[in-house]
Amino acid sequence: MDTQRKRLGVIGDPVEHSLSPAFQQPALDAAGIPATYERWHTTAADLQGRIAGLRLPDAIGANVTLPHKEAVARLVDQLTDTARRVGAVNTVVNRDGHLLGENTDVHGFRESLQKALPDASSRAVLLLGAGGAARAVLVALADLDVESIGVANRSVDKAERLIAELVTPRAHPLGIDPVDLAPRIRDYSVIVNATSVGWNTDESVLDPSLLARLPADALVVDLTYRPTGLLRIAAGLGLATLDGLPMLVCQGARSFELWTGHEAPIDLMMRAATEARGVS
Ligand code: NAP
Repeated sequence: MDTQRKRLGVIGDPVEHSLSPAFQQPALDAAGIPATYERWHTTAADLQGRIAGLRLPDAIGANVTLPHKEAVARLVDQLTDTARRVGAVNTVVNRDGHLLGENTDVHGFRESLQKALPDASSRAVLLLGAGGAARAVLVALADLDVESIGVANRSVDKAERLIAELVTPRAHPLGIDPVDLAPRIRDYSVIVNATSVGWNTDESVLDPSLLARLPADALVVDLTYRPTGLLRIAAGLGLATLDGLPMLVCQGARSFELWTGHEAPIDLMMRAATEARGVS
């Protein structure tokens, strides 16, 4: 890498809340890479121009967040197998003007789950949600070859379509309301909230009475970066919990390695992200 100061950033709308600069910049600095990681607020109308700008020699690449992950998959030159399977890109790498699109959310979820639960592959998982985040989680769970995956969504047909599209034979669709879930909840020992319920309110996507039926060794995961109502209820019942911060940092660490070729300083990134989030 030459010594000219280079550019990296996160592309989204909105993007002001993104924690990525808070942990990517210290990682770049620690590795001695002369680059600045910024927030690049980008509307849908400006997306094509923003992506074209990544082909310039001073651009290393970018992260992509809501609502552009699917659109960027159509704007890069090449997709990795993972990005093609998910149908969405969260990392763009500029290789001499040629843009590679990857989805490191899959790696981020898999890594964070395996660290928290080394026997994850032998578990039955209930995935709540069938939106963009759920797509990456479903691919990660299929790669982990978990025992079975219930995909519960408010609109069940969306869960059915997701399962069919991603060709995940061990997955089955479910409704998300208590009537649908009550008779089956005991069958699962990992719950993953990939809905947007709880990110900005204390509301829990699952009723406490359902959580109380889970086996004692169950893990409750929420992709939101902070302790949510769901996680607080689960912890109160004595269940293990995992919030979305480790996933965020693990996806960012993989992006960092793709951009720089350096091993990511993951502990430093995790400390910086935790500090920026403001709750321990
Ligand atoms: P999305 O594509 O908009 O999907 C939202 C999902 O939430 C859909 O399944 C939707 O169901 C469901 N939902 C919304 N309101 C609901 C309600 N009142 N009751 C039940 N279900 C409801 O969003 P996304 O991109 O998947 O993001 C989901 C969450 O994951 C966000 O909180 C985001 O911050 C988080 N996330 C975290 C990471 C990380 O690195 N930790 C990465 C990506 C995303 P319908 O289909 O029925 O509308």
